[in-house]
This record gives sequence, structure tokens and C-alpha cells, in this order.
Amino acid sequence: MTTVLVVGSGGREHALAWGLARSPLVDEVVCAPGNPGMAAVGRCEPISATDPAAVVALAERVDAALVVIGPEDPLVAGVADALVAAGRPVFGPSRAAARLEGSKAWMKDVLVTAGVPTARHATFSADEEQAAFAFLETLPGLYVVKTDGLAAGKGVRVTESLTEARDAVREYLSGEAFGEAGRTCVIEEGMTGPELSLFALCGGTEAALFSVAQDHKRAFDGDTGPNTGGMGAYSPVPFASDEVVAEVMERAIRPTLAEMARRGAEYRGVLFCGLMLTDEGPKVIEYNIRFGDPECQVLVPRLTSDLYVHLSECAAGRVESPVTTGNDACVGVVMAAEGYPPAPLHRGDPISGLDAAAARSGVAVFHSGTAAGPDGTVTASGGRVLTVTATGATVRAARDAAYAAADDISWPGVHYRRDIASQALS
Ligand code: AMP
Repeated sequence: MTTVLVVGSGGREHALAWGLARSPLVDEVVCAPGNPGMAAVGRCEPISATDPAAVVALAERVDAALVVIGPEDPLVAGVADALVAAGRPVFGPSRAAARLEGSKAWMKDVLVTAGVPTARHATFSADEEQAAFAFLETLPGLYVVKTDGLAAGKGVRVTESLTEARDAVREYLSGEAFGEAGRTCVIEEGMTGPELSLFALCGGTEAALFSVAQDHKRAFDGDTGPNTGGMGAYSPVPFASDEVVAEVMERAIRPTLAEMARRGAEYRGVLFCGLMLTDEGPKVIEYNIRFGDPECQVLVPRLTSDLYVHLSECAAGRVESPVTTGNDACVGVVMAAEGYPPAPLHRGDPISGLDAAAARSGVAVFHSGTAAGPDGTVTASGGRVLTVTATGATVRAARDAAYAAADDISWPGVHYRRDIASQALS
């Protein structure tokens, strides 16, 4: 009996649970805490994902052969360390390695030491405002100011205005804008070019390409409106040539893993590399220590090799089995609640059309912000509610199929972008 425990409750974890359940080697998937969509894939256990003792106790109770941790919060909280100490194989980095996402200053230091191409930068602490202003003056005209710590994806200011950049520095370093997370800040030169997300499976110093994707961060069509957690994604990405991908694996991922090991923070899990394809070649914007959401929802359906095998190998500190991806493209459309971002105006509206959408060929509907009423009715209960994905022979076919399925689904106030993947079609 092989049981896999998936930790988390979003669309990313739903996609991981769904992919793991397809493995012939997996008998049972348990989700902690999971969501109503994940309940159709495996049993859900209502524990706190960020409580190391509770996750270890559950892993022991279900005798998990593998624990897969989806979000960054449990990783930063040391859930992977607690599981390793208890002798459980875990996909997801240690707290020490999770610093790659938890501190942008540390991450930039790893990149520079490892010789990885990235934007020129300097780090400043709360009492270094004047030095920060002086560094801004040395930059060529596109200024980027970032909080060192996690700021729910909102801690990055990109501006052509020196005045605005100085204001950001002042607000960050004073603690006014993001509290402690901003009292150390990283200032970078702005880069330009198309952005790409590359996902590498890592087992210590070994790595294999999982896939590439592009997401859509702005709320509305044409990349307008406020930033969100992500309103859609697609894969593959036409401008990510084999050469570009190979270059990123050789010049960014492998040197980073070697440097992490050298620092005693060996990396096991997925490395999510945010890149800008500049005129001088690909440069790393940042690393995340987990799959992207919604990128994961479009990567897992394209995988033709066994997800359980890959994640188990990473947990064991090696990467051996070839990762294979079908020729099909996949497009995912995030359906969000009225008022998001920042937050849903109301919760608890019943969602109609889920079964009709899921019955379409090549379609998978992944849940994020849903809840189930006592009678089993699924309701919208969060900001980002669903990711509707479809595979197809081309990006265009996948996109048309994803929108046909999204159009089956409704609840009061639902909104979603109409232009996901358009960059791949123009
Ligand atoms: P991050 O949280 O570091 O991924 O930054 C969020 C977004 O800010 C990125 O996806 C980019 O669009 C933008 N960004 C971050 N760093 C830079 C940079 N050095 N130059 C231009 N844009 C950037």
C-alpha cells in the first residue's frame, strides 16, 4: 500500500494530487488540509499545513511513502525538516534552503557567488537610506526596489521615476509599507525583455528540467489592473527555445544547486526560476522554492512520465528518470470572485456547471478557493476560486477548449481574463 500525503489546499496542490493519483505506483493520496476538489482525488484531513508536529503525526498515521509540500509557508516553517527528522521522504526543501525565497538579499548573494547572470543590485538596511539613494543614482533609468522578506507578492516596485524609487526606499526602510519584511531592501537595475518561468526538479546537486510556462499576473485583459497571484498560465512557451532552456539549466540552475550545497543548504524539491530574456541573454529575476500557482496546473497535465517517480527521486536526493512531456499544449484560466484582488466581496455563492466543464475532453478543473456546503454543493469561498485547464494539439486549441469549459461555469460576480496565452498566438 503506497500512500502519498499532499500538504496544502490550493489549485497547485490539487494538480499535484491529481497527477500523483494517476501513477500506477500510488494506491492512495491523502490531502492536508485539501479542498473540495482534492476530496475527489483523495481523503482530506483537516490539519494545519504549517504545523510541523501535526504534519509529522499525520504522515506517521497514514504511513506516507512520500510527503509532497505544495506552498512556501510550510517550507519556511520547517515542515520538511520535521518530516526528514522523523524519517519520512519529503519533496520540498529544508528551512535553510527555503531562505532562497524567504530573503531576496540572501538569494542575490547566492546568485552572485555562483556566477549566475542576474540584475546588478545592492542591499540596504534600515539605517542606510542615504547610501540607498546614492546607489539609485548609479542605475541607468529603470529602478527596481524589493523587500528582502516575503510581502505576499506585493513587495516589488518597478519604476522609471527616480522620485518614485526614492519614495519606495523610504517607505520600505521605515517599515511603513511592509513592516519588517521591507526594513532591509534590495535595489536592482531594471531589465527588459519577455519573462519566462522555468521549473527544475532538484535532488541535491542534480537537476532535470520539468517544464517552462508563462503566467499572467495582472487582473485584467491586456496586462492591466492590479497584480494578482496569477490569472492564468500556459505551456509550452514558443520563445523558450531548447537553447535558452539548456543555457538556464547550465548557467543558473546547476551553479545555484552547487552553491546551496556548499552553504550546507542542499536543495531537494522544485526550483522555480523566474527569468527575463534580455538582449544579453537570460537573467534570473528570482527563485521560488515551490511550483507556481497557476503554472503547476498547466505543467502536470502535460507530463507523460510518472510524477510520483520524479518527486520520490528528488526526496531521495537524486534525479534519474527522464522527465517526458507530451506534444500537447496546456492553457489554464483562473476564475476569480468579484472584488478580487484584493479580496472577494462575498463568499458562499454556489458554483454551477462544474460537472459539464469537467466532462469535456482534455479538461481538468482545479479548485483553489472553494468550500462544500452540508449537501455537497460547491461554493466560491476565496479570491482565486478555480483554474480551468485544457490540453490541445496547439496552444490555440488548448486555449479554445479551456475557454469553452470556463464558459460552462458560473456564479454571481465571477470574472476571468479573456486573453490568456495571447502572447503565444501573436
Ligand atoms: P519578483 O517578485 O522578484 O519576481 O518580481 C516581481 C516582478 O517584478 C517580476 O515578475 C518582474 O516583472 C518585475 N521585476 C523584478 N525584478 C526586476 C528587474 N530587475 N527588472 C525588471 N523587472 C523586474
